[in-house]
Amino acid sequence: MAKIPDATITRIVHYLRALERMEKSGQTRTSSEELARETGVTAFQVRKDLAYFGSYGTRGVGYTVPVLRRELSQILGLGRRWRLAIVGMGRLGQALADFYAWQDGYELVGGFDIDSELIGKKVGPLVIEPVENLPRSVKEKQIDIGILTVPETAAQQTAEMLAEAGVRGILNFAPAVLKLPESVAVENADFMAGLSRLSFFMLNPSWREEMMG
Ligand code: NAD
Repeated sequence: MAKIPDATITRIVHYLRALERMEKSGQTRTSSEELARETGVTAFQVRKDLAYFGSYGTRGVGYTVPVLRRELSQILGLGRRWRLAIVGMGRLGQALADFYAWQDGYELVGGFDIDSELIGKKVGPLVIEPVENLPRSVKEKQIDIGILTVPETAAQQTAEMLAEAGVRGILNFAPAVLKLPESVAVENADFMAGLSRLSFFMLNPSWREEMMG
């Protein structure tokens, strides 16, 4: 398979959300033009993104909404059930654990911290465990993904702990560049970086269409 740009994956998530809305309202067919309007890109871009995965649609007929929705969901690995743990159950960790709209396919099964005041506290579906439990808990609960919400200074060490315990994906909220084996996928979630991108595109509107996904 050709190397797929990051921005394509981001747009696939947006196409999927649009398709879910259409399916909910009973719509059965769509077109690259409609998906483009719904997600703020060009129809050419939609066709190009979907072609990476062999979804070409039919000229003049377009795409069948439930079929394309299923295909994109499979591409993103959402057909399966991912088990998640949060490391760092402070303000952000607790807010995420308490988030009301976790999508199907993601099950929050562990929350870890070093603060003895927090251990045993119930937040959302979790009872906070001491971080020493992490290696055993990851194996017992078959945790696939770690969400890292520790301070920057603890990020590398806790990420290594997750990787050694067998976690294969980390969503990193700490402002740290993690160095991990290639077998571990890392996705950085950084709202300050988002603000900086926003600031750039507000000052340079002509770059927006080309660069933003
Ligand atoms: P916080 O201080 O409220 O929470 C951090 C928690 O991590 C604390 O409960 C602390 O006891 C725990 N902790 C510290 N060392 C640990 C270790 N070795 N193992 C396990 N737990 C440990 O901080 P916060 O406001 O929730 O922020 C958490 C992190 O998220 C910070 O790195 C912050 O910079 C980052 N952050 C990112 C975004 C974003 O958009 N990416 C937004 C807000 C905060």
